[in-house]
Amino acid sequence: MKTILIGAQFGDEGKGKMADVLAKHNDVVARYQGGANAGHTVYRDGQQYIFHMIPSGILHPGKICVIGNGCVVDVEGLRSEMAGLEERGVSFGGRFYVSDRATLILPYHKSAEKYETRVGTTRRGIGPAYTSRRNRSALTLGDVNEFLRNYSEGYERYVIGMIESDLRLHGIEGEPPGILDSAACQVEGIGDFVADTQHLLHSLVSDGRSILLEGAQGTFLDIDHGTYPFVTSSGTTVGGAYSGTGLPPAIGDMIIGVAKAYITRVGNGHLPTEQKNSYGEAMRKGGNEFGSTTGRPRRCGWFDVPLARKASEINGFGSVALTKLDVLDALPEVPVCTSYEIDGRESDFPSTGRRFEMAHPVYTTLPGWQSETSGMKEWKDLPDNAKRYVEFLENMMGVRISYVSTGPGEDDIIFR
Ligand code: GDP
Repeated sequence: MKTILIGAQFGDEGKGKMADVLAKHNDVVARYQGGANAGHTVYRDGQQYIFHMIPSGILHPGKICVIGNGCVVDVEGLRSEMAGLEERGVSFGGRFYVSDRATLILPYHKSAEKYETRVGTTRRGIGPAYTSRRNRSALTLGDVNEFLRNYSEGYERYVIGMIESDLRLHGIEGEPPGILDSAACQVEGIGDFVADTQHLLHSLVSDGRSILLEGAQGTFLDIDHGTYPFVTSSGTTVGGAYSGTGLPPAIGDMIIGVAKAYITRVGNGHLPTEQKNSYGEAMRKGGNEFGSTTGRPRRCGWFDVPLARKASEINGFGSVALTKLDVLDALPEVPVCTSYEIDGRESDFPSTGRRFEMAHPVYTTLPGWQSETSGMKEWKDLPDNAKRYVEFLENMMGVRISYVSTGPGEDDIIFR
């Protein structure tokens, strides 16, 4: 059985926390897209862990963790993330695998986006590496592993040719043999973990193991369905989960959308419900809304129903996990955006980026609950107005909210 966790907004919805909660009930956790631009924060036994590339499931002893073929991998970064976890007692042997089809991020990919300001990326070479992939000039981990293990002059010429073509694509000068040597050095260090993860995952599914597919970023940063051009370079929606692992859809797959009880966005691009005022400030402070990868302050706003409904339409959510309800505890009232006004007309989520930029929120305001929900574990304990808020969002989205997260800790959650 597969459970697929997908960000229903612009990322940072608390997928890391949900992945941690759900990892307990799964045998395998796999990532399917993106690179080290994800920043999942997880608290375990009072300690904070920030994951950029490795599934947080690695904290659960015995769970198998996979970085799927849809990901782009900065090997040096991955090794240092592994080293940091090893220092804290996490072991990787026999339970951690990186796809041999995953794309390699090379240092010149980072140089290629040094001056990127238009979209507001994390400048970790992720976009350029995906560009290389689409140009069919990217190296995969498997390419370099093959070069190391089954050397031949002909294969070396092929790999060097790829690098030459890739440097031309990015308009960067470099010495292909030197680039290959340093890539080979890096990949050698993780060689034992490079595997045919598509087949591995397939075998695990066939053996009846349960698999959690963990997305990074969110639906509206999807290269195809997001608020283009202010998007990431990979498929963050449900299709990306299947193509980024090589697992086919199956009856019984559980697709869970993760949404904050409000909304945040980092980088550029429109955020219709953005609050550039004391409410936005309170959400930023209360929700600790600063990027875990970059430290950038996140823009904060009220819950956006048209956007969440569109996310459900694209991904086919079977249920929603609503996170950070506790951040709204102090508010006397909580506005919810229930539709947009575009060009003087009421509208649902529009298709083009241009029209989205023109969307103004139309609000329904609900009464706040003004009492603490932090750490609550039972639905019955929630204040009535908090229940009403959750039920209102559920009805407006047309999807059951099965989980309500009430704090950063692994136990701060209500299963409904
Ligand atoms: P992700 O990339 O979607 O995993 O999101 P992040 O980990 O970047 O951001 C979520 C932040 O919110 C982290 O600091 C979490 O510890 C924290 N968090 C997650 N769920 C909750 C919650 O229900 N309440 C509060 N107060 N914090 C939460």
